[in-house]
Order: sequence, then structure tokens, then C-alpha cells
Amino acid sequence: MQMLIDGRWVEASSRERIQVYNPATGSVVDTVPRAEREDVRAAVDAAEESLKKWSELPAIERSRILLKIAENVRQNSEELARTLTLEQGKPLNEARSEVNSFANCCEYYAGLIGRHRNVQNEFLTGEGFFVVTKIPVGVVGAILPWNFPVSLLGWKVAPGLAAGNTFVVKPASSTPLTDIKVVDLMYKSGLPAGAVNIVTGPGITVGEEIVRNPKVSKIAFTGETGTGKKIMEMASDQIKRITLELGGSDPMVVFEDADLELAVEGAVWGRFRNCGQSCTSVKRLILLEGIAEQFISKLVEKVRTIVVGNGIEPSTHMGPLHNEQQREKIENMVEDAVSLGAKVLVGGKRPEGEEFSKGYFYLPTVLTNVSEEATISNEEAFGPALPVYVVRSEEEAVELANRTIYGLGSSVWTKNLERAFRVAEMIQAGTTWINSPPIARAEVPFGGFKQSGLGRELGVEGLEHYYETKSIQVYDYSKGRKWRFPI
Ligand code: NAD
Repeated sequence: MQMLIDGRWVEASSRERIQVYNPATGSVVDTVPRAEREDVRAAVDAAEESLKKWSELPAIERSRILLKIAENVRQNSEELARTLTLEQGKPLNEARSEVNSFANCCEYYAGLIGRHRNVQNEFLTGEGFFVVTKIPVGVVGAILPWNFPVSLLGWKVAPGLAAGNTFVVKPASSTPLTDIKVVDLMYKSGLPAGAVNIVTGPGITVGEEIVRNPKVSKIAFTGETGTGKKIMEMASDQIKRITLELGGSDPMVVFEDADLELAVEGAVWGRFRNCGQSCTSVKRLILLEGIAEQFISKLVEKVRTIVVGNGIEPSTHMGPLHNEQQREKIENMVEDAVSLGAKVLVGGKRPEGEEFSKGYFYLPTVLTNVSEEATISNEEAFGPALPVYVVRSEEEAVELANRTIYGLGSSVWTKNLERAFRVAEMIQAGTTWINSPPIARAEVPFGGFKQSGLGRELGVEGLEHYYETKSIQVYDYSKGRKWRFPI
């Protein structure tokens, strides 16, 4: 495939290409251009050029185009989902729901266009009035990870376009294909040339050029906390606007009065969906001691039934990890926990058999007796291993839940809603789900406390990050004048 710059298919100036691999088979799915800094500059120029046209398009037209994009994405969802499974590894059903969530996001923000009211108010001193308006930030650089390439594209371009901004998008080098197809559909839906440009290439050249380019006014980044810190540092040079959606180590706390069947299902869905590679995967399971034994035995029974395989097969529940480094990271975390006394109740190794020999598979794993010193207790576990901790009280549960540098998601399972709200308020995380695994919704703001991020995506709050606030002050001198230089 090629890149889309200024609405046209283009090669990289270097003519070099990057191979995109299927994580289930190791085979090459396709190749994309390896862009250089000058290709990014061309994309930024195109986005800047189209800014006036896009931002001045009547709001109703922008809304119609977003709705058309959603319709076209839905009509092509099967092909998009298959491409996503081939390049990312997730099961086809999950890929379908991710593509669907992109369309939902476009529809939600299409509906918000033109809904906000500009504020107009009298000065407190009565000398006139002021108007507060919202204007688009300008050219936005959207930098994406590989775990949810399509929905996270939607979280950025849907509100950003709704607010009148234009984009340079950089997908992760290992998952560019579905995003390129989505951007192509955006143009087929009436988006003017240059409003969304997609450039493929490494983070250290393409990503850094987007962040450092003075014509880019805002960076919307999703990825690892370490990369987020580098981006924040680079962006500080020009006080560039940034939103950062970073890593997490989300706790799931289960109280004695929870619906245990539902909570077990929630833990399995929350940990093993996308092979454990979600920013809001359940990364630490915290059980009250009264139900721990029963819960763990139901959990292990359920985890044993997870079918691991190539995501393209309809029978597969969990696909491979996205790449070899991810698999090694999770393997090392499990080994480290075991060396510090953890017990592997299920999984803890790679599956055996010819069908698994070329992909990055790892069995769904449950660990108990996990030391608080273990890496898995402290760092983001981005793979299918679930450490279980047993606590004696609500206070202990909250203390353990908050014992992390992260603060992205969390969940509380109890039938006692008073307790649910109390604990939700005490957990330091951007979202707490009550009796539900982590599900992001277009209408609910999403983002992190602590080192999990900065700013919010989704909801009305997400839209706000794509505007500058402009105040216009109007004086009525018939009512006197308060300012006067003393000469
Ligand atoms: P990553 O940080 O390695 O890469 C993300 C993107 O940044 C890629 O496109 C990469 O090429 C680019 N990049 C890398 N170095 C760069 C640099 N110096 N300058 C500019 N761009 C650069 O992350 P990943 O491994 O692709 O994704 C997994 C991570 O994303 C996990 O930590 C996960 O928790 C996090 N994540 C967070 C959210 C959220 O909403 N909070 C959602 C999904 C994933």
C-alpha cells in the first residue's frame, strides 16, 4: 500500500518500504512506505493548506461528511476487520467491534458539531461585555499505537475534524494497513484533499518530525508512558498542545457480595481480550479473602476453556501477542514472579503444536501468591497473564489498587452501590467501571490520572482539547472609562 498525502497515493521519497507481518503466522501481509522527514513536511503542508477550507466549511457539511465516513466504514467493515486481524493478530470478532467503534465515534461527534454555545456576558463592572468563542487548534499530529489502531484513530480524528482541525496521522509501523484503508474511505466520503494525511514510518524520524514541526499545533498521542514522556519533552520546546493516553496497571477489585459468575467472566474478558494488550486490560485482580478460593477456582476453570489460535479462525477466542518482544516481556514477567514465589495455576508457557510454531502465542495465565516486589505487580503487564492478590479489607484493597504509578482504569465488583461509589472515588484512576469490565464509549470521557496520561479523549471533554478558547472584550465608552495612563 501507499501513503495518502494531500488526498493522493504517494511513495516515500526514499522509495524504501516497511514489511507488515501477520503475528499469527510470521508471514508478510503487505508493505508500506518508509517515510522520511521530508514526507512528513509535505503532509504537514497539505494539512495546513486544507485547514482554511475544512474549518470554514459550514458545520452542517462537516457533520454530514463525518456521518458519511461512518456509513462507508460500516459498509466496508468486513474487509477492514479482516485486514486488522491480519496485521494486529486480534480475533475477527474483536476486529469487527473495533471497526464498529470507529463508526460510532464519528457519529457521536457528527452529532456534537454546532451544539456548543459561545458565551457572551457583561463585565462585572458594567463597562461592556465579552464573548468567549472556540476556534480550532490547527494542524494536529495523531500518533497511534498498534493495539487498537482503528478505534484510537477515531478517538482523535472524529472530534478533531468536528472542531475544524486537519491531521497528519502516524500509525504504528506494524499496523498501518487498516488505518490507510480507513483514511481512503474518508476521502471517498467527501473529505477535502489534505484534511487527513497518513504517513508511515519509524517513531524516531516520522514521529519526531511530526512533534517538532512548528506548523503542527497539537499532538494527540497514544502509546507507552516512556514514549509519552519523550513527546512531552519535545513538545515543550514550542509549548505545543498535547494529549497523552498512556499505559496502565488497572486493578479489578471483587468484594464478597459481588455476582461471582459475572465477575469471573468480567475478569476473563478484561484480561484476555486482545491477548491482554489493552491499555485498560485488567492487570491486577484483587479479591476479598472470603471469596478468593471460590473465585480463583471458577476463574481457572474458565481460563482453561479459552481457545488460542489464529484470529482469522472463527473458533479462536484469543490470538497471538503482537510481536516477539511483547511475548518475551510477558514471559519474563511470569518467570520473575515465579522466581519470587508465585504459583502458576494455568498457562505460564507457550502453546505446543505446529500451528503455533511461527506466531507469537502464549497461553492465558493465572498467577497467585504474587510478591509485591515482582515486576508484574509494578509495571504494565501487556499480555495474557493475570496476577491475583488476596486482601482482608476494603482499605487494604484500595491501598493495593493505588499502589502504582499508573491511574488509567479500574473496576469495582459489588452489589452494594454505596460501597461501589465510595471505593470508586478513592481509586486514583481516570475511569472506574462498576460491575463491568473495561468498555470505552464515545460519549464518556477517557484518560488517565498520574503517569497514565494528560487530558481526555472522547465525550464532550475530548472535543474541548481540539479547540483554543478565544476571548473577545468589547468596551462601551458611553458608560465611562476605567483605564487611563496618568499623563
Ligand atoms: P509506543 O509508545 O511504542 O508507540 C506508539 C507510537 O509512538 C507509535 O506510532 C510509535 O512509532 C511512535 N513513537 C515511538 N517513539 C516515538 C518518538 N520518539 N517520537 C514520536 N513518536 C514515537 O506504544 P505501543 O507499543 O505502540 O503501544 C502500546 C502502549 O500504548 C501501551 O503502553 C498501552 O498501555 C498504551 N495505550 C494506551 C491507551 C490509552 O488510551 N491510555 C490506549 C492504547 C494503548
